[in-house]
Amino acid sequence: MKITNNIHLSELHDGEMGVIVKVLGRGAFRKRITEMGFVRGKSVKVIKNAPLQDPVEYQIMGYNVSLRRSEAALIEVVSVEEADKMPSIAFEGTFVDEAVDSVQDLVKGRVINVALVGNPNCGKTTLFNYASGSHERVGNYSGVTVDAKEASIKQGGYTLKVVDLPGTYSITEYTPEELYVRSHIIDNMPDVVINVVDASNLERNLFLTTQLIDMDIKVVLALNMFDELSEKGQKLDYQKLGNMLGTPIVPTVAVKGKGITNLINKVIEVYEGKDSTLRHIHINYGNAIESAITKVQTVIRSNKEILDRYSTRYLAIKLLENDKTTLARLKGCANYNEIEQKSQIEIDKLEKEYGESSETTVTDAKYGFIAGALSETLTQSTEERRQKTKDIDNLITHKVLGFPIFIFFMWFMFQATFTLGNYPMDWIDSGVGLISQFVSNIMPDGPLKDLLVDGIIAGVGGVIVFLPNILILFFFISLMEDTGYMARVSFIMDRLMHKIGLHGKSFIPLLMGFGCNVPAIMATRTLENRKDRLLTMLITPFMSCSARLPVYVLLISAFFPKNQGLVLFSIYIIGILIAILMALLFKKTLFAKQDIPFVMELPPYRMPTLKNTSIHMWHKGSQYLKKMGSVILLASIFIWALCYYPQNVDYSTNYDGQIASITENTILPDSVKEVKTAELELMKASEHQEKSYIGRLGHFIEPTIRPLGFDWKIGISIITGLAAKEIVVGSMGILYHADLAADENSDSLIQQLQKQEHTTGALRGQKVFTPLVAFGFMLFVLIYFPCVAVIAAIKKESNWRWAVFTMFYTTGIAWVVAFLTYQIGSLIL
Ligand code: GDP
Ligand code: MG
Repeated sequence: MKITNNIHLSELHDGEMGVIVKVLGRGAFRKRITEMGFVRGKSVKVIKNAPLQDPVEYQIMGYNVSLRRSEAALIEVVSVEEADKMPSIAFEGTFVDEAVDSVQDLVKGRVINVALVGNPNCGKTTLFNYASGSHERVGNYSGVTVDAKEASIKQGGYTLKVVDLPGTYSITEYTPEELYVRSHIIDNMPDVVINVVDASNLERNLFLTTQLIDMDIKVVLALNMFDELSEKGQKLDYQKLGNMLGTPIVPTVAVKGKGITNLINKVIEVYEGKDSTLRHIHINYGNAIESAITKVQTVIRSNKEILDRYSTRYLAIKLLENDKTTLARLKGCANYNEIEQKSQIEIDKLEKEYGESSETTVTDAKYGFIAGALSETLTQSTEERRQKTKDIDNLITHKVLGFPIFIFFMWFMFQATFTLGNYPMDWIDSGVGLISQFVSNIMPDGPLKDLLVDGIIAGVGGVIVFLPNILILFFFISLMEDTGYMARVSFIMDRLMHKIGLHGKSFIPLLMGFGCNVPAIMATRTLENRKDRLLTMLITPFMSCSARLPVYVLLISAFFPKNQGLVLFSIYIIGILIAILMALLFKKTLFAKQDIPFVMELPPYRMPTLKNTSIHMWHKGSQYLKKMGSVILLASIFIWALCYYPQNVDYSTNYDGQIASITENTILPDSVKEVKTAELELMKASEHQEKSYIGRLGHFIEPTIRPLGFDWKIGISIITGLAAKEIVVGSMGILYHADLAADENSDSLIQQLQKQEHTTGALRGQKVFTPLVAFGFMLFVLIYFPCVAVIAAIKKESNWRWAVFTMFYTTGIAWVVAFLTYQIGSLIL
């Protein structure tokens, strides 16, 4: 049988062979199919292809695979004889790379289907005429006959069949032209789409480009009217823009025929898969739309035939835009009703949140993307720049003024967080106290009561007091996001962040880290690139979260009475410095690869509403609450049990007997009795602590932390901090015989800390805490193992390997830093 140009794999019969020349369909489909071995130049044999049978069975590279008929229809093949005429092809046993090389001979001389897409009057027809040498004149009759002219161009051994499509501003469904262009792209599946763009009017022209990007097709951008760009005194870094859009850009001046040969060469390069700029990017539509997209995608995804032709993301976006044509295309889906309902639910949600049609919201986000891309690449002429000085953006993202404005906002945010947060913090604190009082009054003594009061209420209560602070912080962060300021912050931080191998967008998660690392880790989702995301996650724990603050406050009050603010500030700064150093190191080692640029969206400024901002705040805050309800609760119980058991330890003296004899004593006044009894109770509790499981653990790890100047009690505090840093101060209170419910303002705890002496080892009798040791301990708390919840978050956002890695590398660095602090400090001081 003779196979000519356009035979599809699905048309071959049982036992026939074909050699693959082309895999059609969208990017993700092509990727999956090539990964299965359907690479150009490979021969495929049909094993079983009964007329009504689906899937069809094929043999490729020695093994059998089955493809759905709809998938096979997207693979173009030639006959073996025809392929044999091309000398350099070795069919069997070739490696993928060789196959791709040799296939150039195979596909040479073949047809590349190209479609020209662009706004009206961007120069499509001029370009088309010049390239094809024809003199077509296709008018832009709006709404009347829509027509496409086709011509052939021979270049570089290929025949390019170019179709000049009608001009459109968009490929939505408002005009016949738009529908025509869209169905041409979807049904005819051109190999490459040339998106002609008027360089002198980029913002509007790139809108269409964003729609093509969503479709996940191969696009080359012809930056036409390039002459007018220079005339306007503008400069465009089109290389960079192309990298950000994942679309190669070739400047052209169609009227003069300039750049057209380059353009065609680029099309060929893209077709041959040699172009390195081309990649599929996701336009980031912001949290609300993105989560709607994900939800709609999930219901579409079960329809396998759809996946080959369309990107589910594209379909989801279209459905959210209320696109009836797209909905109609999905009529055949088994769960059509579910798809329709789901999209409607999500549309309603978006419309309620933004108070405008969902389509407008998506459009706004697209323009935000374009504005972001252009403000990084397009230099306005001086004249225009002067005109635009009134624009808020120019002030907020100003090279010089941007920073002080930003620092002011940050200062204001933290100030408000801590001053406003203090009131509810006190209320919660006394509330927790009341509850534990109440529970201990109504319950009979015993392990269950101890578990509830000392384990659960004290543990979770100690954490929940930070909730107001965290909610206030999140309120401000949500406010900045909702107004659009956060996007500008990423922008001004971008240059600085790039210096340490990060992206401006990494700044937001890092900033949130000062509140709580858990939502910060989750916020890394806004980074598209996996490497950037991981890198940001790995260094986020060095942003000192609010849970670590009580530890600093305690130690600073005890050992640095003079320079309190300065010492505290230095801890935060050291955290940031370590983050920077680690980022640089990781960038050189683990993530050594070049930057992939991407667009930072500049969404329009919006008036925030209290309701929306509160919802967003709550969304972030609930993550924190979940952490408390799960991880911290479990960890508190676990640590409580380690402290509580074994119950029967051999005390060095008979505390109970002594207490009893004091109580029975008739000479002592009651007040003295009370003090003495309390003292004995505390001594008993602390001896129990030492002999409990956690005390044994503390002794066990003591040799490893001795070089840091730490004793076993500090060891215990460190272990308890694994669950949550909030627990550290509380357990120190018990360990150091202060009162049983110590907090960081507890004077008795401070005095006890100052009095502590080593009970074992070479330093026996000397003071445990010197300012040096205290400083080293604070650094250790800052750097080591963030907390169980953060590790869980990292696992969720990446995988367990990175979570385990974080556990060990942070602790390792903490050890080294505390070691150097102590050892070098001891030499100097
Ligand atoms: P279409 O609507 O996209 O097909 O655009 P046309 O090809 O009809 O071109 C619209 C106008 O732009 C015509 O007057 C062209 O002469 C002009 N034009 C096309 N390309 C260029 C270019 O590169 N530079 C300049 N200055 N004008 C161009
Ligand atoms: Mg035209």
